[in-house]
Amino acid sequence: ANALVWFRSDLRLADNPALQAALAAGQVPVCVYIHAPKEAGEWRPGAASDAWRHRSLQALDADLRSRGSRLRIFRGPSLAILQTLVDGFEAEAVYWNRRYEPASERRDAEVKKALRGQGLQVESFNGALLFEPWQLATRQGDPYRVFTPFWRSALADWREHALHDAPKDWPVVDGGMEGVELDALALAPSPRWDSGFWEAWTPGEAGAREALEVFIDGALRGYRTDRDRPDRVGTSRLSPHLHFGEIAPWRIVAALEAERTAGTATDIDGYVRELGWREFAHHLLHHFPKTVDTNLNPKFDGFPWARRNGRMLEAWQRGMTGVPIVDAGLRELWHTGWMHNRVRMIAASYLCKHMRQHWLEGARWFWDTLVDADLANNTLGWQWVAGTGADAAPYFRVFNPATQARKFDPDGRYIARWVPELAGLPPSAMHEPWSDPALLRRHAPDYPSRPIVDLAEGREAALAAYQSIR
Ligand code: FAD
Repeated sequence: ANALVWFRSDLRLADNPALQAALAAGQVPVCVYIHAPKEAGEWRPGAASDAWRHRSLQALDADLRSRGSRLRIFRGPSLAILQTLVDGFEAEAVYWNRRYEPASERRDAEVKKALRGQGLQVESFNGALLFEPWQLATRQGDPYRVFTPFWRSALADWREHALHDAPKDWPVVDGGMEGVELDALALAPSPRWDSGFWEAWTPGEAGAREALEVFIDGALRGYRTDRDRPDRVGTSRLSPHLHFGEIAPWRIVAALEAERTAGTATDIDGYVRELGWREFAHHLLHHFPKTVDTNLNPKFDGFPWARRNGRMLEAWQRGMTGVPIVDAGLRELWHTGWMHNRVRMIAASYLCKHMRQHWLEGARWFWDTLVDADLANNTLGWQWVAGTGADAAPYFRVFNPATQARKFDPDGRYIARWVPELAGLPPSAMHEPWSDPALLRRHAPDYPSRPIVDLAEGREAALAAYQSIR
């Protein structure tokens, strides 16, 4: 008998519980992908995500073909397509791995109900997280709002996930419905603005494994301290692979644990703790789905954000604010689809505090430009920086971007790479070029001579705005 395996953001063959379910039941897996961006509601995938997804689907299809199978691609609506496929393949079961975005959760619940109503066997699984978002709760049974106790209870409740290598060969599918070519989904950008991305990234399951190996052989040792240094390769860059489900987080944990020695223990613990923030983000998104566009902390609903300022926002997006560390980050994002975490915090803080633009302005830009755009992590990140979220940085703690740059990019190497017009300046001038206007004019006549919002004035205005809602 046939079973439909509905791939969504779990684009891998190893450690894939939905696929395992079909094989374990002796069913022939029919692998399908349904393109239905409207079903994601307000947060349909952005351009960078689409570019990644195109390549990841290509890789998945190639992996399936090397096993004599293939990926069948269709255009939504999901329920109607699945119903047609159930008929076309005379399938007796439908399996998928869960998504946790509010719109996907609603859609999946409807699909499950309708298909079960037809007498089909329908099962969903956890393919993305170490813990289900509803699994951990406070002693009172409430969701956590603070990371440390959340993570403490996760560690206390720790369970190992079994590893499952990709199945080698497949029973051949009977019956038919071919679907469309991947190119028909028009996910790949045209014109091809994304070519720079692929110098840095290899989407797909093999690319994810390779990134994990590179991390283990390289940045893992020293991760705890180097993870804050944008001028070094100090992190794993696994975030887009995790977002698209090209690798299971428990496989990453298992690979790291195999490296555990007295010398690596703090680095491994530090890394797994960051995976914990991803878990926490999904916990919050599940329990507080409204936070994708409203403040988790309602005190901020009366916060006097400045009026939307198109000129300022555009300067920020283009990396022309006149604050080099901020500009370097936004340019790295534009060129590679990724930005270092420390710089995400600095750039987001400058937008929310100095520019006093609403955090959603920044969140939407990240959504469109990040290859790792993830509704749980992005929402948590922005609400954390803005001070409006759970366990957030207190609003009054305003990052000084020049101080941050001195601390985390001491030689200005990161700035020089992404804002090359400043590369000839001594590091102290790269951190705050406005301090020597004549030098700046000589080296980089087109770079803003002053920050678009003065650091001291912006900080004062932000604190005054905060006083008004205290
Ligand atoms: P590593 O340091 O190698 O971390 C390993 C993994 O842990 C990451 O791949 C990621 O899955 C997870 N992780 C690490 N830090 C965090 C964190 N702070 N919150 C949640 N998960 C984390 N991450 C996204 O995946 N998608 C987003 O859309 C996103 N938006 C963000 C927006 C803002 C304003 C901020 C401050 C952070 C955002 N992050 C987001 C979190 C973090 O910046 C990235 O996960 C990280 O930079 C990815 O690089 P890496 O894989 O090398 O990280």
